[in-house]
Amino acid sequence: MTETTHTLVIGGGQAGVATSAHLQKQGIPHLVLERARIAERWRSERWDSLVANGPAWHDRFPEAEFQGLSPDAFAPKDAVAAYFETFVRTRDLPIRTGVEVTRLERTEAGFRATTPKGVIAARNVVVATGPFQTPVIPTVVTDPAITQLHSSSYRNPAQLPEGAVLVVGAGSSGAQIAEELARAGHRVHLSIGPHDRPPRRYRGQDFVWWLGKLGKWDVKTPSPGTEHVTIAVSGAYGGQTMDFRRLAALGVTLLGRAGSYRDGRLHFADDLARNIEAGDRNYLSVLDEADAYAAAQGLDLPAEPEARQFLPLPPSVTQPILSLDLAAEGISTILWATGFRLDFGWIDLDIFRDDGRPRHQDGVSEVPGLYFVGLPWLSCRGSAFIWGAWRDAERLAAHIAGRG
Ligand SMILES: Cc1cc2nc3c(=O)[nH]c(=O)nc-3n(C[C@H](O)[C@H](O)[C@H](O)COP(=O)(O)OP(=O)(O)OC[C@H]3O[C@@H](n4cnc5c(N)ncnc54)[C@H](O)[C@@H]3O)c2cc1C
Repeated sequence: MTETTHTLVIGGGQAGVATSAHLQKQGIPHLVLERARIAERWRSERWDSLVANGPAWHDRFPEAEFQGLSPDAFAPKDAVAAYFETFVRTRDLPIRTGVEVTRLERTEAGFRATTPKGVIAARNVVVATGPFQTPVIPTVVTDPAITQLHSSSYRNPAQLPEGAVLVVGAGSSGAQIAEELARAGHRVHLSIGPHDRPPRRYRGQDFVWWLGKLGKWDVKTPSPGTEHVTIAVSGAYGGQTMDFRRLAALGVTLLGRAGSYRDGRLHFADDLARNIEAGDRNYLSVLDEADAYAAAQGLDLPAEPEARQFLPLPPSVTQPILSLDLAAEGISTILWATGFRLDFGWIDLDIFRDDGRPRHQDGVSEVPGLYFVGLPWLSCRGSAFIWGAWRDAERLAAHIAGRG
């Protein structure tokens, strides 16, 4: 038996929910299939203490506020999942949970999606399976005595065995987890690659406000070479600027980018000072641009000269450690906060680039009727964020309506 719908949305995270809301507004009959639960990744693929990286007034759909949360607070991950669940219920969106699409093919009339519970035919398909799909672990460390886990499997400090922890990767996930582990009394080493680290707040405004004013969320394409530069930000502990000097003062040993592993030793690039310096430059550039904007617009905001004062560089930066004997350092855990890759192996269509990303223009793929939403830089810098997915979904629903 084949079930038929006009438009099939695959994935019930924020991007799938936003798409469903806009299809409903356009009066387009549709069905969302979610393999687990609504907003599953916020429920079971994030650590316990995670809060949203942006304040509640910002990290949300424009049409629904977080209930029971100050607009300036950072929503705990369970509140984020509940937010989407409530949104779906309030609007009576047609989301079917517990159904995974295992294959997507093209047919004469559109598409055929195979699931363990039957086949669904649709004229259009919107793929909303997430920007962060399959965990990436870049280096093979072959020491059975060492526990290794990816940030998507990390829950809390109590989960880790006794001993020191090496956190590899210092984007928002790695930096936040390293701080949590250090505060919990673990000895922590943190391997830091190139990164941006905007100020959490400046002159009384959150950085997400400044990025909006400076037009940065709407930037269409990343400047060459910066597409993969990770951003270290955090809403934890009320929201603090991610400052690796502060982490060092908490006892964290800073290291350069992790490289090869041989005979019990992990090697690190001699790039830590350079990475810290580039992160500082990025931080200061946001302050400079904010100051210039405030002056040009005549904004009456309190000056904050102390934002330009840094703690001294720690010895781990001035005298870098280029390799670690993991056993001698008592490292019992390596926590890989090294990101994710896309996995569209279940889509049986020749529309993917060598790096696994689909070929598309702002989410409209080369195959008529096939769309992608929620991917990083889909149409602009904001595309993988909650409100960015909302905007992209609105545009794609209008495109689908235009196809008839
Ligand atoms: C640690 C972390 C913190 C983040 N914090 C923020 C933040 O504070 N603010 C913000 O705006 N963004 C944040 N993001 C980025 C982004 O908002 C999230 O990654 C978000 O979960 C992406 O939503 P999505 O709907 O595009 O994808 P996902 O949440 O990944 O949803 C995709 C859904 O599709 C389902 N699915 C996958 N494959 C199939 C299939 N074949 N069939 C059926 N269902 C399928 C999955 O189960 C999942 O529920 C964060 C990301 C990470 C990793």
